[in-house]
Amino acid sequence: MSFVIEASGRNVAEQTGGPFAAAIFEKDSGRLVSLGVNLVTTEGMSILHAEMVAFAVSQKKLNTYDLGGRGMANHELVASAEPCAMCFGAIPWSGVRRVITGARDSDTRSIGFDEGPKMVNWKEELENRGIEVICDVQREEAASVLAEYSSYGGRIYNSRETSIENEVVKKSVGSVK
Ligand SMILES: [Zn+2]
Repeated sequence: MSFVIEASGRNVAEQTGGPFAAAIFEKDSGRLVSLGVNLVTTEGMSILHAEMVAFAVSQKKLNTYDLGGRGMANHELVASAEPCAMCFGAIPWSGVRRVITGARDSDTRSIGFDEGPKMVNWKEELENRGIEVICDVQREEAASVLAEYSSYGGRIYNSRETSIENEVVKKSVGSVK
């Protein structure tokens, strides 16, 4: 999780996307398979949340759409924040056996991001499908990156002089997860 949170912080510092990162590890060995960071604003694609990028890269790398396929090591998703509605939906299809998250939904929403129409009992839904869920791992550290991004976004907003630029900044901060 420290590695993932550091990546989320770097994504903010280097202005390469939203304040989120996620990685796929082999569950037992801890071997890193892929690292994803949020690329929504930089690539101009709404689906490029950190989790989606991590899934795509790991599946491409391992040449399979199912990270839980027969004969494979078990895989886990470690994400700097709880998944939004889209990423929650992608988790069962990915084949991961465990999900570990840092910041809570409430931390993410508190700086203006929208989690989408995610079911309240999302953890149970995953566990019912045999996917273990562990939340609040290094939550404060993960949430501090969100706060950092928020204050950074605030500075950009305040430094802009035209209303058009303000709208662009508001959109980029308000609609990305
Ligand atoms: Zn998401």
